[in-house]
Amino acid sequence: MKQIIKATFLFLTFLFVQSCEKKIKTESLITNKNKVADSRIENLIKKMSVEQKVGQMTQINIDVVSKGEVYNLDTPHQIDSVKLDVAINKYFIGSILNAAGYPFSRDHWKNIITTIQTKAITGGSKVPILYGIDAIHGANYTIGSTLFPQQIALAATWNPTLVEEAASITAYDVSASGIPWNFSPVLDLARQPLWGRFYETFGEDVYLAKTMGKAFIRGYQGENVKNPHKVAACLKHYVGYSFPLSGKDRTPAWIPNRILKEYFLPTFKAAIDEGALSIMVNSGEVNGVPVHASYHLLTTVLRKEFGFEGIVLTDWEDIIKLYKDHHIASNMKEAVLIAINAGIDMSMTPNNYSFNDALIELVKEGSIKESRIDASVRRILIMKQKLGLLKTPIPNFANFPKFGSKEHAETSLQGAKESITLVKNEKILPLSNASKILVTGPGANSLNYLNGGWTHTWQGDETKYNTVGKNTIQEALKLHSDNITYMEGSSLDSNINTAATLMEAKNNDVIVVCLSEDPAAERPADINSLDFPKAQQNLVKQLYKSGKPIVVVTTTARPRIMREIEPLMNAILIAYLPGNEGGTAVAETIFGLNNPSGKLPFTYPKYQGLNITYDHKHTEKTNRFLGQTSSLNEYDTKFKGRVYQWDFGYGLSYSNFIYSNLKTDKTQYSKTDTVKIEVTLTNQSEIAGSEVVQAYCSDLVASITPSVKRLRGFKKVKLKANQSTIVKLSIPIKELAFVGKENQWILEAGEFTLSIDKLKTNFGITKSKVKQKKN
Ligand code: BGC
Repeated sequence: MKQIIKATFLFLTFLFVQSCEKKIKTESLITNKNKVADSRIENLIKKMSVEQKVGQMTQINIDVVSKGEVYNLDTPHQIDSVKLDVAINKYFIGSILNAAGYPFSRDHWKNIITTIQTKAITGGSKVPILYGIDAIHGANYTIGSTLFPQQIALAATWNPTLVEEAASITAYDVSASGIPWNFSPVLDLARQPLWGRFYETFGEDVYLAKTMGKAFIRGYQGENVKNPHKVAACLKHYVGYSFPLSGKDRTPAWIPNRILKEYFLPTFKAAIDEGALSIMVNSGEVNGVPVHASYHLLTTVLRKEFGFEGIVLTDWEDIIKLYKDHHIASNMKEAVLIAINAGIDMSMTPNNYSFNDALIELVKEGSIKESRIDASVRRILIMKQKLGLLKTPIPNFANFPKFGSKEHAETSLQGAKESITLVKNEKILPLSNASKILVTGPGANSLNYLNGGWTHTWQGDETKYNTVGKNTIQEALKLHSDNITYMEGSSLDSNINTAATLMEAKNNDVIVVCLSEDPAAERPADINSLDFPKAQQNLVKQLYKSGKPIVVVTTTARPRIMREIEPLMNAILIAYLPGNEGGTAVAETIFGLNNPSGKLPFTYPKYQGLNITYDHKHTEKTNRFLGQTSSLNEYDTKFKGRVYQWDFGYGLSYSNFIYSNLKTDKTQYSKTDTVKIEVTLTNQSEIAGSEVVQAYCSDLVASITPSVKRLRGFKKVKLKANQSTIVKLSIPIKELAFVGKENQWILEAGEFTLSIDKLKTNFGITKSKVKQKKN
């Protein structure tokens, strides 16, 4: 017996030693591997002059190396070999961005990238260029790529798997253009509807935007970003960009630090934890400090607290703006010193070499240590290495058989279909294709109005680059029915033939009115009023006189107020900016081939002066009835005076979903627990459909005034006609933490209400587990 024990002991010892050896070997392999990788980069850095290092930290616009003048290039576009020589051999630049104001063919991209990379690896620092682009809803600067719904629409799908697939196809198409770096996703929260870049976001909620942001990072970067079909993501615009007090682009934001921490920073943190390789800085100022000058945000929070190791890139001319616009420096040299000290790695200067000259001087005179710029160069070279650029600077352009394929268009179509949100339906939709339908309104016959800004051009407003073969709403409707009449009615802001359209309406059974908004991006997207322009409101009012039912489809960049005309409409589909397949998606929804399942990713305002988010405080219910009700929903029912048009998360279906039996696994939880939730969902209808089960928690009493409710989990569920299922969700208790008075994440004991649809149940967090720092 003893011998058996001894033998077993020896055997186990042998196994243990073996496994230790294996571990040591693997560990040393990793260290060695890293050492090899690092030493290659360290050797590169050692050999570089100050000029070469500063060059790596510079990003210029393609205009600077193209024939013609900046912003006024020769057409067709051509690289200017003399200018390229200056960029590579005199300034040793590390990065180039952009297209020349319009989309290029893949052949042209191949030509450009090959020319640039050949020059870069044979001259200058012999380091490949990191090329970057704004492919924000598909590879919008490449002819024939797949264009997707804009981010706000993808958020409305509440389907992260589909969203990841869309991002993955974008990465594929961007790679097919020879570009390894995408300035996307936008992780700013849309809590100011006037802001012109609202459509570029995932909406107002932290949890939804975090979930979608992570899906984008997985789709762009994959398991290994070296994969020739993947690209590096660039999170933007860190941080606070989306919440300017005036609603105008690049104007001051005033965001208390605890709100910044609880609402605006977590989307970036989540994407960094998912492995995002780079980040772009907010052009604006927060609390009086331009973010490009904020050591606190760029170094203390981003590097020290979040552990971000990737590249910090400026936005367009933002170091220049530190002295020209923000007035915190009196010249470029001072501005560069401030930005570098704050934590910038790469400057999108982008139309001159003023950054290089200033930084070289600062390093040579000793105002900035060479070790400081080495740190940035190291990050830049590591990213180039991670992308496989150091080994393969020129990709294999032939390796993209699915570029512009039907399969990719199908994913875009699915995205558009799942985003469309039905917010009103007085038993009108779906329509029968036997009905005589008049289609009208500015959105009815435009691909540009379906796509919005950043579509083939910066502003997305030129028709000559539109993708051939894609259908506008009226074209797509006509593919399903011979009973469609199309009349313009009005343009975006003026009457075209409203009176004649009203006459025609009388000959039809139903009217589909497509309301819309000018495609635009950044400053040109600034508006002064959220109201739908008068001409479009008038069109609806006139058509109402026909007595025929009115179905409205909106394609807008942000919620446009429709308080006055909404009662005249019998059904409303919010289509956001659904992209190239939007016409098809709308038509399929109108005829019932698609059962709408989109849910609003923002609170749809009713009054411009009442900008309220779903996660508002109890005291935001307007003055008179203060204290009598606990939520806006209850306020609505009680006083029939809704303060917003539709709630965040709202969206109807052609199916009828019923919720029952909401349960949690326990009633008391510790700080490390997870609330396990079950709820029964039944499709009480003859139509298959999808429903988004949304779990909200309300902290009943807290040391900082709690929100009425916060989204803490969701799941999109597909059910057949009359099918019923138990949906399971889980919420880690630590997700209920908030930022307290001392600006720290805390988790307080107490009572919470969990609500799903109209069902509610309470649970508690036990007292001993107070004050935990959130991971
Ligand atoms: C925008 C960024 C964009 C950059 C490069 C800036 O003006 O704010 O979102 O990535 O230009 O085109």
